[in-house]
Amino acid sequence: MQIGCPREIKPQEFRVGLTPNATREAVAHGHAVRIETGAGLGAGFDDADYIAAGARIAASAEEIFAEAELVVKVKEPLAEERRRLREGQVLFTYLHLAPDPNQTRELIDSGVTAIAYETVTDDRGGLPLLAPMSEVAGRLAPQMGAWALQKANGGRGVLMGGVPGVGPAEVLVIGGGVVGTHAARIAAGMGAHVTVLDRSLPRLRQLDETFGAAFSTRYSSEGALAELIGRADMVVGAVLIPGATAPKLVRRADLARMKPGAVLVDVAIDQGGCFETSHPTTHEDPVFSVDGIQHYCVANMPGAVPRSATLALGNATMPFLLALADKGWRQACADDPHLLAGLNVHAGHLTCCAVGMAQGIDV
Ligand code: NAD
Repeated sequence: MQIGCPREIKPQEFRVGLTPNATREAVAHGHAVRIETGAGLGAGFDDADYIAAGARIAASAEEIFAEAELVVKVKEPLAEERRRLREGQVLFTYLHLAPDPNQTRELIDSGVTAIAYETVTDDRGGLPLLAPMSEVAGRLAPQMGAWALQKANGGRGVLMGGVPGVGPAEVLVIGGGVVGTHAARIAAGMGAHVTVLDRSLPRLRQLDETFGAAFSTRYSSEGALAELIGRADMVVGAVLIPGATAPKLVRRADLARMKPGAVLVDVAIDQGGCFETSHPTTHEDPVFSVDGIQHYCVANMPGAVPRSATLALGNATMPFLLALADKGWRQACADDPHLLAGLNVHAGHLTCCAVGMAQGIDV
């Protein structure tokens, strides 16, 4: 099969849909891979890495879209990319169609078969192509929070691990899912004293069994939050209620009970944020202060580490990519209901119920 990977054109997007490793695997499976020149540069891969892996380089995205039977990307196609999609072609990428009627309409009209990373499922009810980005954001959260805690960056001037004779930072993680677990692990690894709040007792049990005394767990309630927030140097917001906007667990009035210069890292900002005072920020200007409390609310945190994020995404997408290329999308989806769950648009029809419900379109 002809597999094509264009350079991402969304502003500030430095990831790339195909790694040299995935390219090598696809070529070993007998497929022809073409990648746009410079597509991997933001993630630290140059054209020579792809050529060594067996790919051919295309001078423009136009050539990729014209030739490829399977187009692999990271972000949703922008308008100029959508114009190049056609019937019979398969698009494999993040789409996030529910809030985007314009993109949905244009993908339907193009006739393309679009498989969205974010709706592919797994046996445990998880989302295996979203999880790597939650792992990246979770591990970044304490790193970014520690930076914002430094005095010169407006913070309280507290060292995560303390020093002999001086206690460590107190870190509160709200939500013990993928983001929260990885944030807690890294914060604990930096030497902080960490508490994880979650509403799910099975989840808290699992964390306790896996991590033992590395961090404490508490059942999430108004009372527990009121008690812990006043002690925290850093609070990581990592809650998710699937399909809903994040609940506002910390209100503006609560900030008055926090230590001046403490840091809120709102990872859930992409779902509206779980702190009332949050608003989305960018990597260029990531932190703002409300009532003396630092807020870090970057909506695309993995963008800070495009190389790690590309490698993590590539590991997760590779088996699905190979199945699509080896068997064709029809057989691959027939064999794997989890991949079929990723099918959002096919031959002029919307095929994803959640998107249909969000937009009032019959599926
Ligand atoms: P997840 O489903 O794995 O975990 C969410 C956890 O929140 C669950 O364990 C759930 O029980 C818990 N929870 C729900 N309500 C709660 C409450 N009131 N109190 C305490 N815990 C509660 O989700 P995830 O993959 O960890 O993602 C978390 C959030 O991070 C999502 O909004 C996701 O979109 C976001 N995210 C943001 C970025 C970014 O760049 N900013 C990147 C990746 C993920």
